[in-house]
Amino acid sequence: GAKGDGRRTYRFFETGMDARAKARRSLELELRQAISDGSLEAWYQPVVNLEDNKVSSCEALLRWRHPERGMISPAEFIPIAEETGLINQLGHWVLNTACAEAANWPDEVRVAVNVSPVQFRSQTLALNVAAALAASGLAAGRLELEITEAVLIRDDEAALEVLHQLRKLGVRIALDDFGTGYSSLSYLLRFPFDKIKIDRSFIRDLAGAGASSSIVQAVVNIAAASDMTTTAEGVETEQQRNLLHILGCTEMQGFLFSPAIPAAEIRRLLLSPRGKAVSAGHSVFERS
Ligand code: C2E
Ligand code: MG
Ligand code: MG
Ligand code: MG
Repeated sequence: GAKGDGRRTYRFFETGMDARAKARRSLELELRQAISDGSLEAWYQPVVNLEDNKVSSCEALLRWRHPERGMISPAEFIPIAEETGLINQLGHWVLNTACAEAANWPDEVRVAVNVSPVQFRSQTLALNVAAALAASGLAAGRLELEITEAVLIRDDEAALEVLHQLRKLGVRIALDDFGTGYSSLSYLLRFPFDKIKIDRSFIRDLAGAGASSSIVQAVVNIAAASDMTTTAEGVETEQQRNLLHILGCTEMQGFLFSPAIPAAEIRRLLLSPRGKAVSAGHSVFERS
């Protein structure tokens, strides 16, 4: 009868669902909870200009302090948030939190916020951005949105339309993780980005015998010809920093200067004697 069928279905479901899927499902439920109970935090990683060594912006990066599992990487929970649609709530929260935080920073420091391709498809992105700027009082020119090539791959025309709406608001647009997607160079011609962030994989191999330094050089040249700046991601050594400076890259971001740190620490850094030295144009690498 109906009862027996139900039990059979249930048993099939139990054995068919592997451990990984179960872990994923419980992570999803916990993420839903985390959004409402405040265990998500926005941390900030400074981005440093290679010419004058000043902090030009800080990138907001999500951190989840899980009660049992400790810090969970966004690389683990962002994909789940994207599949379940939770990314819209999450993205909204990060946007508002980061704008409010940056309103307390020195005027010359911008804030960068990552935007998922899923947020582009929700159609309310430009409205949400305008609302976050209005609520925080942050000047539009101090907000930078980081998007990946995935935004442009699907639904080209609609995505371009949203990018143009954002541009009209006066926010800056950066292409993140450049070099990791498909036919990367063609995307540069479709939309006038303000900045290209060169993926960490090229920076890691910069000093090696491979093509990385030629690729970085080519990206820097293309960017310069189209009024875009370049940021090197994942800079960990002085050697990489020096090579990037020689290649003409605009900015660097990486553990060499600082990882992402909590909001209160970023505020302290930007307002500290070290931060003041940064504002005065002294090297952030000099110890005071
Ligand atoms: P991303 O936007 O490319 O961010 C840069 C990642 O590189 C960050 O990882 C950062 O901590 C890491 N990183 C920075 N410097 C170094 C370095 O010198 N060495 C190494 N090994 N890593 C470095 P994180 O914070 O784990 O974030 C991973 C990704 O998760 C981000 O990559 C971004 O795609 C996504 N993500 C983080 N926060 C958000 C968010 O608020 N919204 C969305 N949609 N995605 C986010
Ligand atoms: Mg990013
Ligand atoms: Mg990146
Ligand atoms: Mg990256």
